[in-house]
Formats: sequence, structure tokens, C-alpha cells
Amino acid sequence: MTLIGRHALVTGSTSGIGWGVARALAHAGADVMLNGFGDPDEIDERRRALAEETRVTVGYDPADLSSAEGVAGLVERTQAAFGSLDVLVNNAGIQHVAPLDEFPVERWDAVIALNLSAVFHGMRCAIPQMRQRGWGRIVNIASAHGLVASTQKVAYVAAKHGVLGATKVAALELANTGVTVNAVCPGWVLTPLVERQIADRAAANGTSVAEESVALLSEKQPMHTFTTPEQIGDLVVFLCSDAAATMTGAPVSIDGGWTAQ
Ligand code: NAD
Repeated sequence: MTLIGRHALVTGSTSGIGWGVARALAHAGADVMLNGFGDPDEIDERRRALAEETRVTVGYDPADLSSAEGVAGLVERTQAAFGSLDVLVNNAGIQHVAPLDEFPVERWDAVIALNLSAVFHGMRCAIPQMRQRGWGRIVNIASAHGLVASTQKVAYVAAKHGVLGATKVAALELANTGVTVNAVCPGWVLTPLVERQIADRAAANGTSVAEESVALLSEKQPMHTFTTPEQIGDLVVFLCSDAAATMTGAPVSIDGGWTAQ
């Protein structure tokens, strides 16, 4: 239990990686504010169960983070609810797959707004209090696509490369303040975001979901295994620990060897 007394916000934590990260932070002792979309009753049930299991405070805020105001409001309400915000995990993200010259402009705007601008706004709003308190951890969930590209993902790849740039700038500006800023770069993690891509591929190719899962992994990763949200959660807890106090500005890969090639 390394994070007792710390207060964390994980954006996009009603599903997938964000939920895994929120669970890991709560199990490490931090109070956690959940955020994201979904069925309110189901979210409330999971929120209560996590709070009971870990004995920390678990809140939920349904803010839409596709605008500057949405992000600022979420950070402010979390600070007010917990008294401070010590750990910010910018995780919320969406995907859209299409060739660049057919990419819908509205999808470009939506992906950039959530996957890149919301990360900037989250850091912008959380940093002043972290700096003042002399301790903070910001972890931006980027992607292998922050380091290398794939076809048909222009907005996502541009946003994730941008997240790594913004992470490095924040790390430099906060170098001697007790606040570290790092990015996690996962390869394939089996979440709804990826399940949709596998289902689309199976429909397009007339294959099964099982066949397309293997194809998806082996196209990119030397290791033909999905990383789990729990493993990403444990990595984030490590980045929040004292062991990682001098790690800052780092893109940390957890990608089955994807970007080693
Ligand atoms: P997911 O679809 O399972 O979860 C996305 C979360 O974001 C959900 O909680 C959703 O409600 C929330 N969200 C969506 N739009 C929102 C909005 N406008 N405002 C607030 N919340 C919103 O996806 P995931 O795979 O868990 O992805 C989480 C992060 O991890 C993303 O940034 C994604 O790019 C990144 N990532 C995922 C993979 C992967 O293989 N799954 C790999 C690398 C990086």
C-alpha cells in the first residue's frame, strides 16, 4: 500500500484500461475519482464494490472531456471532493479507422479533442496545485501509436505522438517540483476499443473473432499476447511510487515487443 492518503483521478475509467488503473490505485490505498460514460446503475454498483473491497473513497463524475470546460470542471470538482488531486491519469480515448483522404473531419476533431487536447487541459488544470503541494504524479496513457504509426489511424497516431510531446514538456517544466510526468505506451489490450476493431475486421474479412484476434496480435507484436488492464494498472502504481521518483518525461512501453522492431 504505497498511495495511502493520496487522491487520484482516472479519466475514462468506466471501462477497459481506465478501470484497471482505477482498481490498482484504489488497491494501493489512493482515493479514486472515476469518470467516463456508461449505465449509471452499473457504474454505481462497481463504484460501491470497489470502495467496499479497498476501504478507500471512490467517487464518480460523468464529465464529457471533449471540451476544455468539461476537463476543467472535472479537475475542480475532484479537488473539491477530495481536498487535493495528487495523481492524474489521463486515460480517456477513442479510435476511428479510415484512410487519411476519407477520414471524416468531424472524427478527426473528436479524436484530437479527447485523445490530445483533454490531456493538455487535464495537466494545465492539475499542475498548479500539485506544484504548490510539492508532490504529484501525472501519467498519460499514450500508446505504441505514440511511437510508431499504422495505416488508417491518422487522428489517433497524431494525437498519441502529441501526448508524448506534451508529456516531455510538462516533465521538463516540473523537473524540480516533486511532480513527475510520464506516459505509458501499451500495445494491444483487449478492451471494448479493440474488441470493436476485431469485430469490424472479422465482418470485413468473413473470418471469426478468434482468427482476427490472432491476426491483429501477430501483425504488430512479436509476443502474441494481449496486455491486461490489470498489468497497466500495476505499471501506473509503480510510476506513482517512490521507486519512480526520478522517472519523468519517459514513454514507458508495455507492448509485447511491438516497438522493439
Ligand atoms: P475503452 O473504450 O474500453 O474505454 C474508454 C473510456 O473512455 C471509457 O470509460 C469511456 O466511457 C471513456 N470516454 C469516451 N469518451 C469520453 C468522453 N468524451 N469524455 C469522458 N470519457 C470518455 O478504451 P481502452 O482501450 O480502455 O482505452 C483507454 C486508453 O488507452 C485510450 O486512451 C486508448 O487510446 C489507450 N490505449 C488502448 C490500447 C488498447 O489496446 N486497448 C492500446 C494503447 C492505448
